[in-house]
Amino acid sequence: MKKILAVVLSLVLMLSSFALLASAVQYNDIPCVIVPGIGQSRAWLVDENGEYVLNDSGEKIHCFPGNFDVQKILSDVAAPLATSVATQSDAGLSEALCASLEKAFEMNKTDDNAVPCGLVNVETYPHSLAECTDEQRQYIFDCIPMQRMGETIGFENMYYYAYNSFGNAIDMINGLYDFIQMVKQQTGKDKVNIIPISMGGALFNGLMDLHPEVANDLHRIIFVVPALNGSLIVSDIFERELAFLDADYLYSDFFDGILGESNASLIEVAIRVLPKDVLMSVLNNAVDMLIEKVFANCTGLWMLVPNNHYSKCVKNVLSDKSKAEVKRQTDIYHNAQSNSNKNILKFKSQGVEIFDVLGYDVPLYNVGNSWNSENADGVIHTFSTSIGAKMANVGETLPKDYKQQNPYCKPVKPVGFFERLMGAPSNTVVQCSDPSHNHISPDRVVDASTGLLPDHTFYFDNQPHATANQNDIIMKLCCELVETDRIKDVFTDENYPQFNVGRATKDLREKLLPAAEGVDTSALSEADRNELEQAVNDANAMLSRTIAVEGEAPAVEQRLRSILEKVGAVEAQGSALDSISPMVKLISNTLLEVGGANGFSDIPQELISKITGGNGEENPSENTDNGNSAQPANNTPAVTPTNTSTGTIPSGTAANNPKTTGDVSTGIYVSVAAFAAFSALATYKLKKKKEE
Ligand SMILES: [Zn+2]
Repeated sequence: MKKILAVVLSLVLMLSSFALLASAVQYNDIPCVIVPGIGQSRAWLVDENGEYVLNDSGEKIHCFPGNFDVQKILSDVAAPLATSVATQSDAGLSEALCASLEKAFEMNKTDDNAVPCGLVNVETYPHSLAECTDEQRQYIFDCIPMQRMGETIGFENMYYYAYNSFGNAIDMINGLYDFIQMVKQQTGKDKVNIIPISMGGALFNGLMDLHPEVANDLHRIIFVVPALNGSLIVSDIFERELAFLDADYLYSDFFDGILGESNASLIEVAIRVLPKDVLMSVLNNAVDMLIEKVFANCTGLWMLVPNNHYSKCVKNVLSDKSKAEVKRQTDIYHNAQSNSNKNILKFKSQGVEIFDVLGYDVPLYNVGNSWNSENADGVIHTFSTSIGAKMANVGETLPKDYKQQNPYCKPVKPVGFFERLMGAPSNTVVQCSDPSHNHISPDRVVDASTGLLPDHTFYFDNQPHATANQNDIIMKLCCELVETDRIKDVFTDENYPQFNVGRATKDLREKLLPAAEGVDTSALSEADRNELEQAVNDANAMLSRTIAVEGEAPAVEQRLRSILEKVGAVEAQGSALDSISPMVKLISNTLLEVGGANGFSDIPQELISKITGGNGEENPSENTDNGNSAQPANNTPAVTPTNTSTGTIPSGTAANNPKTTGDVSTGIYVSVAAFAAFSALATYKLKKKKEE
């Protein structure tokens, strides 16, 4: 009996260990090529001999998006700026700024043959990540944190296609094709997976069109926030539809969108040292210079022009005969971009599995006038990243009676020739396998059925483009999709649903949790020890989940940060600037309400004395009123200059006759100039601190 039991037991043990083996994940050994986004490749400045140019600290100089030596630019423009402020005119400021900016972008210029002519050396990796140096791998994972893939499919199967973001489009596309052939050859595999990210998506359009045979080399494509139909920011630049060229917007809201409210206020006050006309002409000249001398010939940048804006952009920028060759090349890409959907479906029909991952509900950076025209991820409008999905604008929802449109859904009865003629999808474009799928997002913003790949597109609400690489869920999902073929579509795994929520957890994972690890808990009070333990548990629990909840990540991070600050494990956030920023904001708002979108000298004299507490004829009680209320006195609209849009300078102002202005305004100019210098310096320092 005992013997039988022993045999049974050992059998059970054997079987269970088999089961264990069977349940262990079998990872692909398919190599994976990552095609990063704009600015995610290192481009170093070199001299005529190809030697690296070093800065004062002996470091190589990075050229994306230019070589910005802020100190140098400031010293270049300091003298003309001072003269321009003193004379309230453009005393060489435009010229100095343009010259300085042109120099900063010099290495990223392209000639009329669309050939980059700067001395730039792009760091490439013509081998797997296993053969990169530790420092190179560190850089690559800083850009695209997919370390986990190295542990599953092996670093020897991971490749990173670096390219010059200001390069020639056709060369970059051909380079990608050659790179894939190289990966196949080095690994001995006949197929690769590929992850085109952001601008990498644009490159991929070109690859599909110029090298259609590459379909045979591909197993899976994982598009991540891809610029498949460009970005409206780029067409706004080429069309000169720039938000900051509108003075009313410049003085009020423009900087808020870029710098955040408190820093913006500093700048909003500082720019008033110049009259509006002067400031606007300086900005216009700088924009013209950048478009003409840096952007126009760069075919890499042209890949980011949305399809339906191409003709207008060409007309604006490439209509001159001298641009014929550039236009010939951008036409080639434009054609590839126009064929994008068709090519994606063709690749699918050839057996390539295609997925798309994107964020939505973040307004475009307010650089261009299109910024609030449609849903976006901050950098690219979602029509482009989602391959055509219909969405409500940011902050809005689809109409109440909106019904899922299912343009790519399997029809209930077979589609005949006539129906197809009338626009019904043919079988090759049926991408949603079941008409009963719900493809409307829970927040009713997205109709995913209208994107080209309804069953294979993952959406992250409130996920900015710029921090998609800080979203651990997106990185994990990408790894999952290439490590095994387990996930077939958005319905395979409820832990990776079609609709998720964005989050950024880089600080939590890379700074706070490691800092918590280093805390000597025996030295803490019991209460602090418990709080730290709880906060760490919360963080780890959240990171183990792949379904995000709105607001959870910031709350979890803040809890851990607070206790770590309390026990001295991390430095407290915030700076001296924070305490003065409410004051600056108040000044800026008051200036805007009282003086409108104007330089100081454009603001009528009596208003200046009003703002400063006035030695004019105003009655004292009114001054007190202005000083105390955040909303300036009710009567101000009546005296606010109404000519802001015409740019006319009211007569009798400092600009017209600086010499006759009284001591008050001279005092204001001096103090404002000092303040402007201080605020520019402070903002720069703050920005630098943040970058560190
Ligand atoms: Zn479906």
